[in-house]
Amino acid sequence: MDLPDVLRDELLVHEGAALGPLTTLGVGGEAPWVVEPRRREELILAVRELHAAGLPFRMLGHGSNLVVSDAGVPEVVIHTRSMKNIYHHGEQEHALRCEAGATLARLVSVAYDMRLSGVEGLIGIPGTVGGAVAGNAGGRELAIGDVLTEVTLVEPDGAVRVVPCTAEDFGYRTSPFRGAVVLDGVVQLRPGERDAIFARMKDTLGAKSATQPLSAASAGCMFRNPPGGSSGRLIDEAGCKGLQVGGAQVSPRHANFIVNAGAAAADDVRRLVVEVQRAVRAASGHDLPLEVEWWGPFDDRTPVVGAP
Ligand SMILES: Cc1cc2nc3c(=O)[nH]c(=O)nc-3n(C[C@H](O)[C@H](O)[C@H](O)COP(=O)(O)OP(=O)(O)OC[C@H]3O[C@@H](n4cnc5c(N)ncnc54)[C@H](O)[C@@H]3O)c2cc1C
Repeated sequence: MDLPDVLRDELLVHEGAALGPLTTLGVGGEAPWVVEPRRREELILAVRELHAAGLPFRMLGHGSNLVVSDAGVPEVVIHTRSMKNIYHHGEQEHALRCEAGATLARLVSVAYDMRLSGVEGLIGIPGTVGGAVAGNAGGRELAIGDVLTEVTLVEPDGAVRVVPCTAEDFGYRTSPFRGAVVLDGVVQLRPGERDAIFARMKDTLGAKSATQPLSAASAGCMFRNPPGGSSGRLIDEAGCKGLQVGGAQVSPRHANFIVNAGAAAADDVRRLVVEVQRAVRAASGHDLPLEVEWWGPFDDRTPVVGAP
């Protein structure tokens, strides 16, 4: 099946696009097409036309929570990186409407410039608003679901639906919007002093960079934490810190991060994940479910638990 002509005419289209460079871990094969909407109308068009043509698709933000298989994916990928506007909501005071492809870094910085407080705790998370909404990304004190008041979705027929939401709709890295197409989200902030906002940004980033390998190529935390526990600690206690398979390595800095130590293949990451899960099960009896999402076909023998 071919991509509808109207999408070739109206959108940026990359044929046979390598997905590794579009992710922070940097592994994986190609998608048949990556389409890049620049405006909300283009995202709506893409969703409607792909649906009408019977072409399945995946949404891609900053690719910071993904492992793409070496074989790539058979689906079309809609990449939101060019939809990054953030503006005043207009009706709600101190609220910002953020397009799906706006990065959290940009949101934190725009809020700071506008003397608005409430999203400092998201600093250092390298994803987009769309990806964060889909997974309720967050840190020690704040997840994006805590400040979201509404999310705009695109339905398969191209209809736009505004969904109000509150913190109660979200859980630890879970969101009612996973699997939907997020067009934008509104965050409710409050007026603040620049110095106080900056101090909180600095504290959050300082704590994160003291323990996490922020400059290494990774997909963030590979495993979900068990209730009240820490996967990083379990992996460390199982003796896996620094363990390497091919180019994939358990970060010596933080054991819940698997880093691309140089030319890793997705299969190296898979084998290392399996190794870590085995070691932790043997050492503590815990099964470590994945936090990171896996795209495309992986080896059937992968005894990965909790994969979405
Ligand atoms: C160094 C590092 C540190 C990290 N620290 C944290 C942290 O502290 N806390 C945390 O929660 N996460 C953290 N992460 C993980 C990651 O940054 C977050 O999960 C982030 O929210 C993912 O956003 P993304 O845009 O990269 O999404 P992607 O990885 O591109 O996609 C992730 C999921 O979101 C979906 N998605 C993306 N855009 C849309 C859209 N517009 N509509 C619908 N679905 C969409 C995708 O289809 C996929 O299912 C870290 C990652 C790294 C590499």
